[in-house]
Amino acid sequence: MLFTYAGNIHIHTLHSDGSGTITGIAADAAAAGLRYIIITDHETLAGLPEEGFYRGVAVLVGAELNKESHHYLALGLKELVPGSETDPQQMVDRVRRAGGFGFIAHPFEKGSPYIDGGKAYPWTRFPESGFAGLEIWNYSSFWRGRATSIPRTLYWFFFNRKAAVDRPPPEGLVLWDRYTGSGLRVTAIGSSDAHAARVGLACIPVEIFPYRFLFRTINTYLCFREAMSSNFAEAKSQIYSALRGGHCFISFDQLHPGEGFSFSAFRGGSAAAAAIMGEEIGWQEGLNLKVRAPTGRSEIRIIKNGTLLCRHHGPELIYPVEGPGVYRAEVYYRPLWRKARPWIYANPIYLRS
Ligand SMILES: [Zn+2]
Ligand SMILES: [Zn+2]
Repeated sequence: MLFTYAGNIHIHTLHSDGSGTITGIAADAAAAGLRYIIITDHETLAGLPEEGFYRGVAVLVGAELNKESHHYLALGLKELVPGSETDPQQMVDRVRRAGGFGFIAHPFEKGSPYIDGGKAYPWTRFPESGFAGLEIWNYSSFWRGRATSIPRTLYWFFFNRKAAVDRPPPEGLVLWDRYTGSGLRVTAIGSSDAHAARVGLACIPVEIFPYRFLFRTINTYLCFREAMSSNFAEAKSQIYSALRGGHCFISFDQLHPGEGFSFSAFRGGSAAAAAIMGEEIGWQEGLNLKVRAPTGRSEIRIIKNGTLLCRHHGPELIYPVEGPGVYRAEVYYRPLWRKARPWIYANPIYLRS
């Protein structure tokens, strides 16, 4: 039996450049049906004393390190550690030595010529190891990168926001597959990078992407083998171990909620999963991968070692595994009469030889 919890990662508050308080943001998360959120203000853990349950939402506090480039989401820290713009591996190792773990944030950020003078915060040097994962789909960062013409941006912003966020940046997926192909286990996460910035447009105050909007966009769903504890310290350790272990999937919930998705490996007809997302087991004959999508309007894809193995239309796929490898699943959502669109990205199951 598995338990799945939707949540949102990478959120800024008034402790840095966001516009909301932790209490207000948690209320928006509860209204969106989320069960956990992770606050990551820029280079501060000022929100840490406010960690706890708010209306059933577990609120955890990490920090986003660095200013100009190589933004790193550092979680599980008790005290802030310095970032490093020039030596990201040093920063990653420092976070790990302090008992934390981290995620490479918006690695291929492009920026927009119309926002902050085209400023972007990408990564140019990547660490070799020691980090937990990679943010492959960041709503705010992706949006900025797509804002390359004023009419298109205005159309997307006011009339069709879904159309702007069409897929995770392909370079990020390639990097993820390259890392996992090199023998590392690397957790992919999706995030909002919520700021809810308040600006004046022709004297009318406008909140750009409010928290309550973003909490219905790109979420990361965690899978637990036991229900979330009502004790906060225990729930926090469950959430962090699911993230570190890659027991999670990303869903672009604006297309359709990801609730109900699962990806596991089974031995023959056994009812208990031999491995769930993020887990590593030895390959053997008779293993099947099983993907269940939340709706029949799905195209399920299996990717092995970064290469597309199969595509299947429908809500469920059982796929006999032919050999060892790093297997992950994607689901595309198929609206009526329209092209299927990238929707769910599950972390790999590692079948070792
Ligand atoms: Zn950032
Ligand atoms: Zn951020």
